[in-house]
Amino acid sequence: MCRHLAYLGPPVTLSTLLTEPSHALLRQSWAPRDMRGGGTVNADGFGAGWYPGSGAPPVRYRSDRPMWSDTSFAALAGATRSAAVLAAVRSATTGMPVVSTAAAPFTEGRWLFSHNGVVRGWPASVAGVAARLPVTDLLTLDAPTDSALLWALVRDRLRAGRDPGDALAATVAEIAAVAPGSRLNLLLTDGSAIWATAWDHALSVRVLPAAGTAAAAVTVVSEPFDDLPGWAPVPDRHLVRAVPGRYHLDALTTVGATSA
Ligand code: GLN
Repeated sequence: MCRHLAYLGPPVTLSTLLTEPSHALLRQSWAPRDMRGGGTVNADGFGAGWYPGSGAPPVRYRSDRPMWSDTSFAALAGATRSAAVLAAVRSATTGMPVVSTAAAPFTEGRWLFSHNGVVRGWPASVAGVAARLPVTDLLTLDAPTDSALLWALVRDRLRAGRDPGDALAATVAEIAAVAPGSRLNLLLTDGSAIWATAWDHALSVRVLPAAGTAAAAVTVVSEPFDDLPGWAPVPDRHLVRAVPGRYHLDALTTVGATSA
């Protein structure tokens, strides 16, 4: 199961988040602590998206190689600062291709998206759900993977103007109904807020309040990346809505579950 992370707060280098902490995504790519549902390492690619500032859309870097083997990314991460980052390391589900386009983040416009988990019974279980998407969306999926389809389903709701949290909740609800046992930890940001679901996999959140001249921050992760205090586990089957300095939880059974 992949591991992912989203951060909003004072500008930091990508390496501050992704490679330097004691249990950073870099370490989680070869020594994750919680791989329920299969896999031992996250070596089937990785990706990072970050907002360069001044309202510009996110920049994305994706690879089909393990994060530890990409020295170009290590150099880039040390020299790139951002106030909003979403990144993931991938463990491909059996039968799904190891290609850079299958690595998160998936993106359109200001959005960055990641999925940690698996859709059970793929692809037959979700054929009916997929059929409600425009055929052009299905023909242009980033990759033939469950995660790419989940992004197309979420994106379809965002394009329709749905609240982002409701878009995630409704997507989890429709997939869980046709593919029971799926693990559906979804992660979404627009650079200003983070929305995330915990559905049968681990998720934690840490808020740092504003202190002195330092602005507030929030980080949402599959696994805490350091041993400092403040990480709070997100209860299973909950939706997180977070902005720097605070977050809110809703039970997923009560959010978005009834609407399309
Ligand atoms: N099932 C997805 C894929 O193979 C997500 C990966 C994961 O969480 N292990 O791309």
